[in-house]
Amino acid sequence: MLTFSGSPETWDLPLALYREGITMRLNRWNMVMLAALTLTALALAAWLGWSTYNYRPAYHQPQEMGPALPVLSGRVALVLIDGLPYHLATQMPCLQPLIGRAATAKSLSVLPTMSQATWTALLSGARPEISGAALFNAEYDALQPIQVDHLFALAKDAGMSTAIAGHKWWKKMIPAQFVDRSHYVAAFDAAGDLEATQAAIGFLHDPTIDLLLVYLGEYDEMSDIHGPSSQIGSEALRNTNERVCELLAEIDLGSTVLAITADHGQLPQGGHGGDDKPVRETLFLLAGPHVRPGEYQSIEQPDIALTLAALLGLPLPRSGQGRILHGLLEATPAVKMRWQAALAIQSMAQADAYLESIKAAKLPTALHDQVTKLEEALQVESLEEAERLSSTLLDQTALFLTRERAAKISRSRLTRVPIALGGLALIVLLFLDNWRRGHRAAMLLALLSAVAYQALWMARGHVFSLSTLSSPGSPVSLLVTLVGGAMAVLVLGWFLLWLPSFLRRDGTKPPLSSARAFSTGVVGILFLLGLAAFTVNGSLGSWQLVVPSLAFVVLLAWVQAALVGSLSLLGFGLVKLVQRIFRRR
Ligand SMILES: [Zn+2]
Repeated sequence: MLTFSGSPETWDLPLALYREGITMRLNRWNMVMLAALTLTALALAAWLGWSTYNYRPAYHQPQEMGPALPVLSGRVALVLIDGLPYHLATQMPCLQPLIGRAATAKSLSVLPTMSQATWTALLSGARPEISGAALFNAEYDALQPIQVDHLFALAKDAGMSTAIAGHKWWKKMIPAQFVDRSHYVAAFDAAGDLEATQAAIGFLHDPTIDLLLVYLGEYDEMSDIHGPSSQIGSEALRNTNERVCELLAEIDLGSTVLAITADHGQLPQGGHGGDDKPVRETLFLLAGPHVRPGEYQSIEQPDIALTLAALLGLPLPRSGQGRILHGLLEATPAVKMRWQAALAIQSMAQADAYLESIKAAKLPTALHDQVTKLEEALQVESLEEAERLSSTLLDQTALFLTRERAAKISRSRLTRVPIALGGLALIVLLFLDNWRRGHRAAMLLALLSAVAYQALWMARGHVFSLSTLSSPGSPVSLLVTLVGGAMAVLVLGWFLLWLPSFLRRDGTKPPLSSARAFSTGVVGILFLLGLAAFTVNGSLGSWQLVVPSLAFVVLLAWVQAALVGSLSLLGFGLVKLVQRIFRRR
């Protein structure tokens, strides 16, 4: 600690403390609070991390599979470029000639914007809240097959032939029984992408394959490690462009529908996982037979799985939480009608399963009665009636779902309010007591320091987003910022409190009690910040992910509180040791 090293006169402080004694009661109260808040923050941060990595939805997908839809295109190739943000995808030289001939839209990734969770959403239409995908990527050995309906399972059930070329994670996520031809690569790098592209070109020339997934992983990996604007990041982007060129040269858009998208984007400085704009916005491009070229309004990532299922004439994935993008497709009114009706029936079954998973009320029976009417209208091919019933059902189901979900969120928030108020009261009392006992400077400095701590976070280029966790240099860079920031705040705060008595050189006013009040104050404010975010959002890994940026704030605040608290306790322990040594002499 700065205070107790260096020139001999800095040793005045412990001596003065020893000679004058200290106000024991407040000290003890501050020290007890400091230890209690530190331990609680540590436990809560650990619990948040644990609950996120071990999140398992209580969701069971509906029993009944919907009907197969009319086949529009018997052959679909999906090219998935990991981590490519919308603004970079639209500037890709290779895509330029295609963009005018294709349907394009901004696709909004599901949260958290992590690869396994978004890959699952792309193929199943199910959001991570219910899909069972790891919220933060599972290690290869722990990686589980997709637990809900996905395009590959549906295609195999329909007797289609499927193929995958890409990283070996896919081998775990889509078991061999759903894949006829495959080529998996070991690494997310240039060699891996080249190998996958060559294999994919082979699959494109195999006329028996109806559904092909090509995955390119170099760009995301290099951006995560080195940053998108680094030399390696730019090189990865150029390589990816070349791979796309090679694929485009081999795709016959007269017979194959090509879909190109990314699972998520990247922060300009690298990193993903949060809800930052460049991280959530990706390109969805569709080209080939039955596609209506044009630039369309933003879509939600789950829409892609349902749209590709409709194109291939598969039943809609039972856990799909999107819609069919029929505006992007050429089809007869009768076909579009069948899509809407199938979607209405699928959405209702899915909504019931979802509502059950969050222990909310079921859809009203009146809505279910409408389904019977819709099925009757479909049987007699009364298109207008079926259309009317479908859109009513879709609207009302969506409305009911939104309302029930919001009510459920409010109820669970209410249960956290007493905890938050208790914590707030305790910390406010602590502040008032310290203020009353003359530690005003310490309390004001604590407030300033908590702000400065956050400013240091931003000055180091970190954002308040889950994307920070995967930005370049993490976790070393994060640790340096967190521990370095905590030490800087403490050393500076303690120094400023000690400075007046040092300047007076009278050795009468012991500042150690002020230092204790100060440390407790900083930890108290950081703890409160976490508590406020927790009250809004609940635990990080639960189904609630209501305000995703707060999901990170709560974790960060509690980690910061635990760090500042631990370092303070360590510092005071050292002072105690020094005092003992002096007492013996
Ligand atoms: Zn990814």
